Amino acid sequence: MSFTQDIKEQISRIENQCNFCDVAELSALLKFSTGYQPGEVSVITENEDVANRFCYLFEKVFSKKIYFTNKNGVYKYQPDIDFFISQISVRLMLFDGNIDEVTGLDCCKRAYIRGAFLGGGSVSDPTLRYHLEFDIKHEGYAEQLLRVLEKSGFRAKKTYRKGRYIVYIKDYETIADVLGTTGAVNAVMEIYNASIQKDIRNTVNRRANCEFANIDKVAKTAAQQLSAIRKIQNSMTFEDLPETLKEIAILRINNPECSLKELGEMTNPPIGKSGVNHRLKRLIEIADKI
Ligand SMILES: [Zn+2]
Repeated sequence: MSFTQDIKEQISRIENQCNFCDVAELSALLKFSTGYQPGEVSVITENEDVANRFCYLFEKVFSKKIYFTNKNGVYKYQPDIDFFISQISVRLMLFDGNIDEVTGLDCCKRAYIRGAFLGGGSVSDPTLRYHLEFDIKHEGYAEQLLRVLEKSGFRAKKTYRKGRYIVYIKDYETIADVLGTTGAVNAVMEIYNASIQKDIRNTVNRRANCEFANIDKVAKTAAQQLSAIRKIQNSMTFEDLPETLKEIAILRINNPECSLKELGEMTNPPIGKSGVNHRLKRLIEIADKI
């Protein structure tokens, strides 16, 4: 089952807090899943949970039992057109631009967003990317949803794609909050888990890159020191070097992979990292003059 289907299954079982919530949720659900043709209205969904939720809310609001037909996993309900025009469209304010009446209370705004998600929402698996969208046929309905989202404190964007209006959100915190508002508690946890996993992966990668860079730098420096020492040896002046420089040169040749600190522990008497660094720099300066 996809991430979106999981969420729809979960939120289609939530108890609404007030009677207006039922109207708000059903209004959004109908707007985002209804197709209009001359003389015909069809509520269509490919999700059984959504179809069942629709029937449940419809009975609560209109005191009328309805049924969806199921043809190859496509669930369809076609209300009587007169009933649709005289009752459904009026009660659910389908053709009224102002929906504040059905979304006045906070609980009803949440119900409206839930209905919109059930009807036309989808969200990507958060381990892959952060993307939530509502696919909407009519621009007016997209504007209404944006307004309800905004009044609930969520900023979403709108775009136009292949004849449809898409209201979408891309930052994971807002996605989690919007889904939390609809009652999808498990999804919120999954999104936060995914973001924590991503953070850990990024930190590990950054650290690994940093260590590689350091190893690279150490190796380059050691190579430079070794080539300086070889140059001095070849020019026969090696024996003229002070004992301290001769000692560090031999230690470096025998231990090319050792850090400055480790080389310092091998000298007699032991010296610190900066002492080793100073002596090796002297060797490079001498080689540069040859
Ligand atoms: Zn309410």
